[in-house]
Amino acid sequence: MTTTDQEHWTRVKGRLHAELGEDIYSSWFARVDLEGVENDTVRMSVPTRFLKSWIQSHYAERVLACWQSERSSIGRIELSVRSGVLRSLAPAKAKLPQPHEQARNGHDGKYDGIEMRLGGAPGSSAHEALGGSPLDPRLTFDTFVVGRSNTLAQAAARQVAATRRGEPVMFNPLYIHAGVGLGKTHLLQSITWAGNAGGDRKVLYLTAEKFMYGFASAIKLQTALAFKEAVRGIDVLVIDDMQFLQGKSTQAEFCHTLNAHIDAGRQVVIASDRPPLDLESLDERVRSRLAGGLVVEMGSLGEDLRLEILKARVAAARQHHAGFDVPLPVLAYVAKQITHNGRDLEGAVNRLLAHSKLTGDAVTLEMAEREVRDLIRPQDPKRVKIEDIQRVVARQYNISRSDLLSSRRTANVVRPRQVAMYLAKTLTLRSLPEIGRRFGGRDHTTVLHAVRKIEGLVNNDTALAQEIEGMKRQLQD
Ligand code: ADP
Ligand code: MG
Repeated sequence: MTTTDQEHWTRVKGRLHAELGEDIYSSWFARVDLEGVENDTVRMSVPTRFLKSWIQSHYAERVLACWQSERSSIGRIELSVRSGVLRSLAPAKAKLPQPHEQARNGHDGKYDGIEMRLGGAPGSSAHEALGGSPLDPRLTFDTFVVGRSNTLAQAAARQVAATRRGEPVMFNPLYIHAGVGLGKTHLLQSITWAGNAGGDRKVLYLTAEKFMYGFASAIKLQTALAFKEAVRGIDVLVIDDMQFLQGKSTQAEFCHTLNAHIDAGRQVVIASDRPPLDLESLDERVRSRLAGGLVVEMGSLGEDLRLEILKARVAAARQHHAGFDVPLPVLAYVAKQITHNGRDLEGAVNRLLAHSKLTGDAVTLEMAEREVRDLIRPQDPKRVKIEDIQRVVARQYNISRSDLLSSRRTANVVRPRQVAMYLAKTLTLRSLPEIGRRFGGRDHTTVLHAVRKIEGLVNNDTALAQEIEGMKRQLQD
């Protein structure tokens, strides 16, 4: 390397600093070293793969342009990752927490352990940028079977996936909720895969837990800014299992990210096991923002849909195991028996496959009965929502839902309110404090009192008991 090279490099850094500002420059470029210049190629190195890919996907052109304005003969830049050996030879650097370096500990290619799955062909630098373990290649729109319970969610997901950069987003956020194993993750990953294939938008898939963990460790390592920038540089932010997002500072950060994304017209997609307003641990403002886009519920899988999913699964398995064949009556039997969720359907096919591979026997009904016996569960009680309870109770007693939530204490409101709280306690898994919050911010002792009161009454008052049974049926059917 010549002194001219060094001088040019110093000026390139100065340009970058001036153009990008101190924050971005120090987050991404402070640790870039010049390795050399050969003919038209500039070689630079960074300490981590994450940093390399991030710079490549976000700043490659700008860095090149800065070089070209110093030296017009430059046509290419190359970034490499400095080896760990070299780094450990530099004790001065090892002493202080070095944000991007620490991020590598234990999980190479992951940003603070955050599992970010980014659009861009798998294995490409863009994908590695945020260090994702790969998406499950089976979870695409092609393998997603559409039926009555998921038509709307699937259509919305496809719409989101088909939107190009610069086009207005139609629903923001898109919020999909459903019970376990009903295809939320499948749809979210489909959106991410479609983003990969379509090309022009960066789609980032991460679970709320990873968001939380990633942000918490970024704060600890004082790389919060880099983390925020990483997340905000994304066109489509896909967050799975939203119900697991917890903690004040993560929430604040999430809220910020959410608002920034939506306000900038960037797509946000969320999945959760419950509707936005039932995300008890979240701040009111976040909940209402989440509820402000398109909220779609996916219902349980109907028998037809289950059968189609099974057929698709078997067809997929046959690609690798040509001899594997499941007669239609067996599929119909499994579809009938396994009502619970998609995961168990997958489990059933896997067992049939394993059995037929190991024994070489053809798949028969008897074998299926034996193999899937323990996957058959009693019919799952329907997920009942507090909102629905309030609606049904209000209708029953001819009062408004806001009466139920109000502080009015007249008898015609107090009893229905107690009934509604009682139903909330018996039909949902919500805690007493949660229920209190959903009933106009009441104390948990008030809820407990209501529950006890109604429990006492139904033992003696058959009319009330019947009324309550009727409402339970309405809610559970
Ligand atoms: P969730 O995230 O809602 O808990 P998943 O998306 O993980 O559920 O789905 C569980 C399993 O069921 C996966 O193997 C998934 O591929 C399958 N599955 C669910 N719904 C469908 C569907 N409509 N078509 C095909 N497979 C499905
Ligand atoms: Mg899931």
